[in-house]
This record gives sequence, structure tokens and C-alpha cells, in this order.
Amino acid sequence: MPQLAPAPLASAQAGQPQVAPWAYHGGEFVPLSDARVPITTQALQYGTGVFEGIRAYRQPDGGLALFRAHDHYLRFLASCRMLRIDTGETAQELCRLTVELLDRSDCHGDMYVRPLAYKLRLLPGTPPGVQLRGVSDALSINAFVMGSYTDKQGIKCALSSWRRPPENVLPVRAKITGGYVNNALALDDARAAGYSDAILLNTRGRVAEATTSNVFVVTGGVLTTPPAGADLLEGITRDTVLALAADLPGLSGVVTEVTRDGLFTADEVFLTGTGAELVPVVQIAGRTVGDGQPGPVTRALMAAYDDVVRGRNARYRHWLLPIG
Ligand code: PMP
Repeated sequence: MPQLAPAPLASAQAGQPQVAPWAYHGGEFVPLSDARVPITTQALQYGTGVFEGIRAYRQPDGGLALFRAHDHYLRFLASCRMLRIDTGETAQELCRLTVELLDRSDCHGDMYVRPLAYKLRLLPGTPPGVQLRGVSDALSINAFVMGSYTDKQGIKCALSSWRRPPENVLPVRAKITGGYVNNALALDDARAAGYSDAILLNTRGRVAEATTSNVFVVTGGVLTTPPAGADLLEGITRDTVLALAADLPGLSGVVTEVTRDGLFTADEVFLTGTGAELVPVVQIAGRTVGDGQPGPVTRALMAAYDDVVRGRNARYRHWLLPIG
């Protein structure tokens, strides 16, 4: 039986909620305020959850469309497998639930969707402990209004003293909640020192990624981003940018190790992520990147990305999943 629409939880613009008033939780759509977990939740205690961040963009007809939702959910399911989480849905079913969540929520503006799968409670007979088996799995999805938030004129990044953990310490290629303590510490240090974000090296001293985005450098007209083996999350935006680079005349992306000096001497540096989108980096650890302005390759790729997510490039419309 359909439930009555819950009251908006956050400040409303023109009568529209800024936070989706519904959440998918415990196998059904519930008012967001009812989507709660007990303090005994195993993921809360041990960081044994996985998550995604998916954007939905307003399209030329005013409708909303999820960008690369299926790819996000394939990565989500891979992260789930890493932690022995199985909530039973396929990527297609997760897409359908997300479409329904956004459809019911009727917010204005671009949206950000946060799927979360997590270890919930000990099954009967399982003693307490840090474990993946003998614990139930749960899925929640919530969403909120979120426009572009990064400074498209360029940001200043720190070079973090924190390193990205190697894969034999923590599988950073999976989006595991507990692993984000590393990212949070790096970002907190960077912000305290007056930077917008931090770029982290791996334990071998090569460039890994920024706190929630991947790194691209442009040197002598060559676009480079580090490989998955450099201890990073293989971003979906990174993959999108590599595809778009191949479309630009005279440009293609190379996936190869990036050294610290390669970062410092690059003509252009930019970050890519679902939340950050494409953001130019104009200074790193007090050194100016190129001429201190977003470079031509960065600007061309930013424009190309915007065209794709806003449905203005027919070639990539299959990456958009319309709501409603
Ligand atoms: N690295 C990390 C650590 C991230 O959290 C993110 C954001 N998901 C990214 C890279 C970029 O990934 P995507 O482009 O898929 O959002």
C-alpha cells in the first residue's frame, strides 16, 4: 500500500525539498526520518560497509537522468563481493530502485544518490567479533539535491603526508566505508592548511589519487592518469574522461604511473569524480601548475563532460537513465 508522502526534512526552495524525503531501507521505501540503524550495526562498529555516489542531472527537457548508474552499481556489487555482502539485487534492480526513489522524491535541481550496503546484525549463534560471515547484510539508498560545488576556476591541493594504502593492506579499489578514514584524515589536514583538497601518493611514492577523485596530468599535450595498480579507486568519471579524450582531435589518454616530479612539472592537472566532476588544479603544495589557470585540455574536457551529463551529446546518451 502506498504510504503518505513524508514532510520535507530540509529547507525547501520554491516548495521543493532539498533532501529526498524518501529512502529505500530494509527492503521498502520509507520516510527518510524512519531510515535508521541500531547502534549494534556491525558496519558502524567496524567500517564494514560499501557505498557509491551517483549523480542525476537535469536534461534539456527539464527531466532528470542518472549518469552511468548501471556502471556505478556494477562497481557497488564488486565492492559488496569484497566484503561478502549480498543483498540480492542485480545492478538493473538497483537502478530501478534508484529511479523510483528519485521519482517519488520530486526534488528540483541536480541530485546526488548515496547507495550503502552494510553488515547489520549478528545472525543467531554468531559470537561478537570483527567478522564478515555470520552477519546479516542490508541496503539503504538516500538522495539529496546537489549542484556543482567545486571551483571551476581551479583549486589548490596539498600533497598529503598520508599515503594511499597498498592493496595488500586495504582494497582501495573497493569503495569500503572504513577505508575512507584515510581519505578523511588527508582532507582534514589539507583543509587545516588552507587547501581545498589533497593529492595522495601510494607507498611506492607514485601519485595515487585525491581524497575523493582521480588525478589527470597533461604534459606536452599528453594526457596521463595513474593505473588501478597505483592503489586507487578506478573512477567512473576517470573512465568517462578517457573516452572523451579519445574523441578530441590530437588528444588521447594514457594510463601509466605518474611520479611526484611529473605532477609538479605538468602543464595542467585536474581531478575527476562524480561529486567533484572535473576540477582544475592550479596549485600543488605551493607550486603553481602551468600558468596558474585552467589549461586548454582541461577546459575542453570540462565542456565535453558537461555536454555528456546534460544529454547534449547523442553519442553517450546511453549513459543516461531517465527518471519517470
Ligand atoms: N577516488 C576515490 C577515493 C573516490 O572516493 C572517488 C569518488 N567515488 C573517486 C576516486 C572518483 O570515482 P568516480 O569518478 O567513480 O566518482
